Order: sequence, then structure tokens, then C-alpha cells
Amino acid sequence: MRDSNRLPRTGRIRGSGDGQVGGRDSLVYWGRERGQAGAPVVVSGQAYAQARPPRRGSARVGLARYAARLAAGASQRLRGGSGLVIGGRVLTAMAPGGAAVLGRGRRILLVSGTNGKTTTTALLAAALADSDPVGSNRGGANTGAGLAGTLATSDAHTVALEVDESWLPWAVRTTAPRCVVLINLTRDQLSRHHEVSALATTWHTCLADVPLVVANADDPEVVWAASGARVRIWVSAGEQWTADSVVCPACGDRCVRTEQDWACASCDLRRPTPDWWLEGSDLCSASGRVPLRLDLPGRFNLGNAALALVAAATEGVPVGEGAPRLTSVGSVAGRFSRVRHRDHDLRLMLAKNPAGWLELLGLMAPDRHPVVLLFNADGVDGRDPSWLYDVSFAPLRGREVVVQGRRAADLVVRLELDGVPARRVDGRLADGLAGLPPGRVDVVGNYTAFQAAIAELRRA
Ligand SMILES: [Zn+2]
Repeated sequence: MRDSNRLPRTGRIRGSGDGQVGGRDSLVYWGRERGQAGAPVVVSGQAYAQARPPRRGSARVGLARYAARLAAGASQRLRGGSGLVIGGRVLTAMAPGGAAVLGRGRRILLVSGTNGKTTTTALLAAALADSDPVGSNRGGANTGAGLAGTLATSDAHTVALEVDESWLPWAVRTTAPRCVVLINLTRDQLSRHHEVSALATTWHTCLADVPLVVANADDPEVVWAASGARVRIWVSAGEQWTADSVVCPACGDRCVRTEQDWACASCDLRRPTPDWWLEGSDLCSASGRVPLRLDLPGRFNLGNAALALVAAATEGVPVGEGAPRLTSVGSVAGRFSRVRHRDHDLRLMLAKNPAGWLELLGLMAPDRHPVVLLFNADGVDGRDPSWLYDVSFAPLRGREVVVQGRRAADLVVRLELDGVPARRVDGRLADGLAGLPPGRVDVVGNYTAFQAAIAELRRA
């Protein structure tokens, strides 16, 4: 339990409602100054908001933006996607640096992490959506081109952007965000991304220029990276996957964990006392608790919601006001959606990497109905699926399991080693479902396999 004697009394005086912030023009929130180890202080958001001149685009940027919008619109009509990537490419080709110009004067919040960034960004956009529209790259276009495309095609003053982990330094430099939300940092695509520790180092460096970070206190890599920021707000958002943080990111010695806590065996890096934490499905702080009612399953989504609400609170949306808005987020890009397909009631889930599979296997553990696993190793999946051996599939024991996808054979072997007999079925998702009894089926796929399944179900 936290030591309430260490809480600053001023926070109770300044807090409004749920004790977090004042109005939008008198922004006040808990935070810790860089280098401050003790209790959080009350800081004024206005003092930290970066003074950037409002947008005053040159004619060249205006023309590039117009062309970017045309390209994005054409791409949407012809290819059905968001068109943000092609829009961003057109903008940058015609006006290098155009994204930075279009970001000026806007209220920009960035969300990054290995897992949950699309969902957390959607939740953040929902929490911030009071009277004004919120711009966002909801389709997952989270690299430089997608971010530039979002700034070119949206007129919204407030913009919540999901950012690929390796693009965070670029995004910070280009958009000068008011706040960066850090969820977690674990292995993703073994053949594309750098080591986790190398990414944490680039985060640590780039965050020195960020006024405010809302970060997951349960992830050592995130905590170390966030320690570079001027002000940190710590949220205990949980972390099931600990295999990528057995080594201290600051000094390289062992990171020692207990059930709730972690600390380096040598240096002073340790889990900070969270300013916000979850008790059951309540989001708690020193000044109260707010129940979270989500349409999204799983403990990890409660953690995503906690980060989103605290970030929204720093922008003047009290947590108690933002929380009910989160129920508008029921499915993000098809993830967690429920689909009726002939005799089956499907629950669709995306698992991209070891941490993601671990979360979803935990979520599915109490259920007994059949499971279809879809597994590719193409393009954005990463070509190296050897991480399968870092995840235990034992929670699937006793369930009927069908495996599909171009690397189905790898997954069948992995399941066999965990005592989970599985049937491989080639062809489309419909072929995999054909042999299963009517009723509920969980469908879990990695990225390209999941996209193919969504496309197939839309056509059906
Ligand atoms: Zn250390």
C-alpha cells in the first residue's frame, strides 16, 4: 500500500472532482520533476506546455497538404484503407518538414508501446472527445508517413497519435507533443526491430524534450525511458510479460521481481510509487476511485484505459468525466469484435508477439469452447517465429484447437510440446470453422493472418 503521509496536501486542495485537474485553462496535475525521487508535486500544465507558434503554413505546405488530401481520398476510394500513408508521402515529397509545420499550435498527444497502442489511442481519443473532434490515425498508420498523413488530412485541433516504437524519436521531434503515453516495451518482430534495450535508449534520449510523460510503472524499460522526461505521471497499468526486462536497462544488472514490485539489484532504478493504479476494475488515485466499464475484455485493456484516462486528465478532462466515454470503444480495427458466421459466434483477437499471445491466452484460459489459431510469418509479422518457444500455450489444454496459416506447421509443433493436440486445416478461415461444432469459437491471429480473416469475413 502507498504511504498516504507522503502525498502532497496541495493536491487535495487543487483537485477538482476526482482530484486530478482543474479546468482546461488552469491545468494542474500530479507529477514528478526529473531527478525528484520523493512524493509527486502538483505542477501546472501551462508551465510545461511548449510555446510553439500557431500554424502559419507557407504556400508550399498548403499546396502539399491539398495534394496529400487528394491522394489520401483517392486511395480510400480505390483501395479501401485510410489513405494516410500515401497522403503523408505526398506531403513530405512536396514539402519536406511539412508535418512539423502542420503540427504547430495543435494539442498533440502521442501513444507508443509494443502492445496496446492502437487500443489506447482509441480510448484516449474517446476520453478527449468532448465538444471538439479529435484527430487520430485509427487505422494503425503509425510510422512517419502515417503520422504526417494524419496531420495533413485532419483539421482537428486535438490530435491523438499512435506511434510505432522505433518512430517515437521522429514523432517527438516533428510534432512537439504536449504529452507522451508509454504502455510497455517488449520484443516484437525479431527480424525488424532492434533489441528492446536499444529502443529504450532511443526513447530515453528523445523524451528529454517532452514536457510530460504518462508511463506504466510496472515495466522497467518504460520507467527507465520515461526517467528522461521533465515530468512523469506513473500509472500501474500491469505487465504480464516480464521476460524482456530481466536485466536492468540502466546498468545491466539483474532486475529483481516480486509479485507487485521490481527493483534493480545494483543501481537505484526501481518501480516508482504509482500515482494511479487499478483495484479490480476501479481506477484509483490518492483522492478517490472511478469505476471503469469497458466494452473491451481483459485486464490489459483496463491498463490501457487507465493510461488513456490519466493522459486525458492532463488535458483537462477529469477522469470521472472521461471514463463513461470509453464505452464507445467496443472494437478497434476489428480486434475483439464479435462476428456471427453461419453456425458460429466468433470472437476475433489479434496477437502479434510473445507478450500479446500471453495476454490473450490468459484471457481465454477460463473458456472451454474451440479455438482457431491463424499464424503467418510474412511482412509485418516478422519472418522469425522462434519466439513461439518463449510462450506457454498450456492454457489451451483440453480445448479443440484448429491451426491455419502459412506457418501453421510451426505452431502445431509448438502446441504439441505443450500437450495441446491441434488439427491443421489449410485454406480459408471458413474451412477451419467447418469441422467445429456450432456455437462460440475464439479466433486468434497474428497480423497478416488476422487481416486476411477480417477481409474474408467482410466478404462473406
Ligand atoms: Zn540497474
